[in-house]
Amino acid sequence: MAPMNAPHTTADLISPALMQRFDIPGPRYTSYPTADRFLPDDEGHHLTSALQTRARLSSVTPLSLYLHLPFCESVCYYCACNKVITKDHGKVDRYLHSLEKEMVLVGGGLGSDRRVGQLHLGGGSPTFLDDEELTRLMAQMRRHFKFVEGVECSIEIDPRTVDRQRLACLRQLGFNRLSFGVQDFDPEVQKAVHREQPFEQVAALMEEVRALGFDSVNLDLIYGLPRQSSESFRKTLQQVLQLEPDRLALYAYAHLPTRFKPQRRIEARELPKAEDKVRMMDQAVQALMRHGYDYIGMDHFALPGDQLAQVKRDGRLQRNFQGYHAHAGADLLGLGVSSISQIGDAYSQSVKTLDEYYGCLDAGRLPVERGVTLNEDDRLRREVIMALMCQGKINFSQVNERYGIDCVHYFADALEKLREFEWEGLVMRSSAGLEVSKTGWFFVRPMAMCFDQYLARHQDHQRFSKVL
Ligand code: SF4
Repeated sequence: MAPMNAPHTTADLISPALMQRFDIPGPRYTSYPTADRFLPDDEGHHLTSALQTRARLSSVTPLSLYLHLPFCESVCYYCACNKVITKDHGKVDRYLHSLEKEMVLVGGGLGSDRRVGQLHLGGGSPTFLDDEELTRLMAQMRRHFKFVEGVECSIEIDPRTVDRQRLACLRQLGFNRLSFGVQDFDPEVQKAVHREQPFEQVAALMEEVRALGFDSVNLDLIYGLPRQSSESFRKTLQQVLQLEPDRLALYAYAHLPTRFKPQRRIEARELPKAEDKVRMMDQAVQALMRHGYDYIGMDHFALPGDQLAQVKRDGRLQRNFQGYHAHAGADLLGLGVSSISQIGDAYSQSVKTLDEYYGCLDAGRLPVERGVTLNEDDRLRREVIMALMCQGKINFSQVNERYGIDCVHYFADALEKLREFEWEGLVMRSSAGLEVSKTGWFFVRPMAMCFDQYLARHQDHQRFSKVL
């Protein structure tokens, strides 16, 4: 039976009329303010001052570390990531060298408490690095940070770049969670997006992953890709479910070719129509529910025994630049080109190109480009937006007490905007607060937008992707 916190079917729940009204472009709220609101800060003031504040605290939660490894051998046409396409593996050496310089600089700011509770390697394709390079990278990190016992180490895997031996090496290096980019198993779709990786290849890797004793495996899927149909996607889903991943991310493809150059190679006429995308999402949600997956929130599903499902049930789910996670109170330190840090009340983003990155580090400067330190209103709005995105509810009295405000008065504008969601039964409002409905979970993003003070000031959300 499907869990109470999850939608059972989407076709029944999401009518075309609802889609038309509420499927508007908007941020994914992995931060608030969203990264596009950060201000120029090439001296890295926001980061430096946040690190100093952290260093002065008597007790802090171990850090989450994110490392961005930008290299990929070939481009996937749907890609919206910051990456460097190259076949030249010689480029890795300089990058690792610069990463170490960055670790030294940031480590100085962190002070003596360098404990790390979670590490994630993303990209690009982290597995562009060979075993020796990954070993060198992990050794660098262990030199500059102290991994706590039971540290959660995860890495994004491009299935085309690993085999049994490489997986064994990752296990030996301490990785316990893997995330495979699958997207779709249909050969025609794979050709259309320039990412060919047969089901058999991924299935064989999954077998190895289980044999090697990794704690959790995530698979990423995308619906709305060129040449995808509800029929072809149904088959992909069947194949994915055979593999029994612990977690699944189900993203809607957002075709924004003016923002993301690789997407210009996708034939717009080959893209499925909006109603086909709803059908694909519907069949995916139904299939996942039938197979016992819990709905976590925006695009994410997990088996009930998985840590993410557990924290969701306990109301402890969190969200940051890595999406949903279980590490309450942990600052996120991003290292590498284009990475984002969230330390206390500050956000900071690194420069986006390799030349800038190397230039800053060669000059002994933090490779920071932009940042922001939250004011009281930002902190308050971040809390309510994250409560909506993670718990699906806002408890007015808790917020009133913490911030010394009256939510009904303070958020009068937002609550007024939310009325149309209320009328459609997407969110329920009472004197205690707000709670989203099963259907409402699919629209938490536009609901969160009602609380976004920056969007209210600048009506420019067209550059974001839509919900579906
Ligand atoms: S989707 Fe991933 S693997 Fe493909 S080009 Fe982008 S970053 Fe590289």
